[in-house]
Amino acid sequence: DAGSCNGCESELQALNNPFYNLHRLGIFFTPSPRFADLLLVTGPVTHAMLGPLRATWEAMAEPRWVMAVGTCAVSGGIAGGGYACGNGLDGVLPVDLYLPGCPPNPAAIIVALLTFQGRLPQRVLGGRHAE
Ligand code: SF4
Repeated sequence: DAGSCNGCESELQALNNPFYNLHRLGIFFTPSPRFADLLLVTGPVTHAMLGPLRATWEAMAEPRWVMAVGTCAVSGGIAGGGYACGNGLDGVLPVDLYLPGCPPNPAAIIVALLTFQGRLPQRVLGGRHAE
C-alpha cells in the first residue's frame, strides 16, 4: 500500500476468500518481503510511502518482480501529481506488470498473475493440473 484509498486492498483481500481461493493456484501472500517473489503495489506512491516502498523492495531477494495494481499505481490515478504524491510507480521501481482498473477485480488480478507466470492455459481437471 503506497497510498491507496483501500479500494484495491479490498479486492486483494477477496483473493483469499473461499470463492477466489488464490491458494489453490499455489500463490500466497507472504508475511515478509524477504519471502516474496513479487512486490504487488497499490496507490499513487505518496511522498510518505516512498521510503517504506523502496525499503520493502530492497528487502526482497533476487530475482524479484514488481506488479502495479490499480490505476493509481499504474499512472497516479485521481490523486496523481497532487501535492502529496507522484504519478505511480514509473521512475520509482522497475515495473514488470501493469494492471489498471479502479480497482481491478479479483478475477482480473488472478488472470494477470497467471499470465505473468505463463500459466494462463493451465486447467485443473479431475484434481490434477493439465495444460
Ligand atoms: S486504483 Fe482506485 S481503488 Fe485502487 S487505490 Fe486508486 S482510487 Fe483506490
